[in-house]
Amino acid sequence: MIALVLNKKSITVLLVVVLATSALFALSTVSTFTPNNPYTIAIDPGHGGIDGGSVGVSGKDENYLNLQYSLCLQEILTKAGFNVVMTRTNLNGLYPAFSENKKIDDMKKRKEIITKAKADMVLSIHMNSFPLKSARGAQVFYKKDNIPGQKLAENIQDVFLKVLPNAKQSPLVGDYYMLNEFQIPSVIIECGYISNKEEEELLLQEEYKKLVCYSVFAGVVKFMSL
Ligand SMILES: [Zn+2]
Repeated sequence: MIALVLNKKSITVLLVVVLATSALFALSTVSTFTPNNPYTIAIDPGHGGIDGGSVGVSGKDENYLNLQYSLCLQEILTKAGFNVVMTRTNLNGLYPAFSENKKIDDMKKRKEIITKAKADMVLSIHMNSFPLKSARGAQVFYKKDNIPGQKLAENIQDVFLKVLPNAKQSPLVGDYYMLNEFQIPSVIIECGYISNKEEEELLLQEEYKKLVCYSVFAGVVKFMSL
C-alpha cells in the first residue's frame, strides 16, 4: 500500500516542483524580491541536545527528524536563490556546556541567530505527538494577530492539504516562544505525528520528506507572490 502511495507521491512531488517553479517565476517580477537583495529565511530545527523532543513509535526522536527535514528544506530554498540561515545544523542543543538553564539558553540563542541574520521569515520545523495514537496530519501554527504569519501559515497549509495525505484542514494559532518573539512572519510547521505508526513510517521515508519540504517551499513562494 505504501509503495502505491509513494508512486502517486512521486508524481505529486513533480507537480509541487512545477507549482513552486512557476510561482517563483512569477515572483521574480515582484519588486520586493531581487537576486541582489536575497530574502533571508531562517530555518529552525526544533529541539536538540538534551531535549530530543517527542519520541516516535520506532524510537527515533524529533531532534533527528527535525534536523533531516530542515537540511532538506535548506537545500531546496538555497537552490531557489533564497538566503538561508539555520539555527542549528547538527544534533546538539544551542546552550553553553555548563548552562544552568539549558532550555532557556537554547531558545535565546535561536532568537539571537535569527535576529542577527536580519531574517525576513522564520520556519520552525517540528514533528507532532499525541497520546491518542490515531491523531495524524501535518499542521502549521502562527501567532495570533501576526497577520503575515497567518497568511504564510495558510499558504503552506493549503499546499499540505492538496498534497499530503491526512493534512489538517486549516492552520492554528499557537502560543510558542518561536512565534511570540518575532514580528516577521514566523510559523511552526508540525510535519506530522510520529506517535502515529503509519504517519511515522511515511515521515521516515526520503521521498515523503522531499514531498513535505517541496510543499513548504511552494507555500513560501505562494505567500511571497501575493
Ligand atoms: Zn517539537
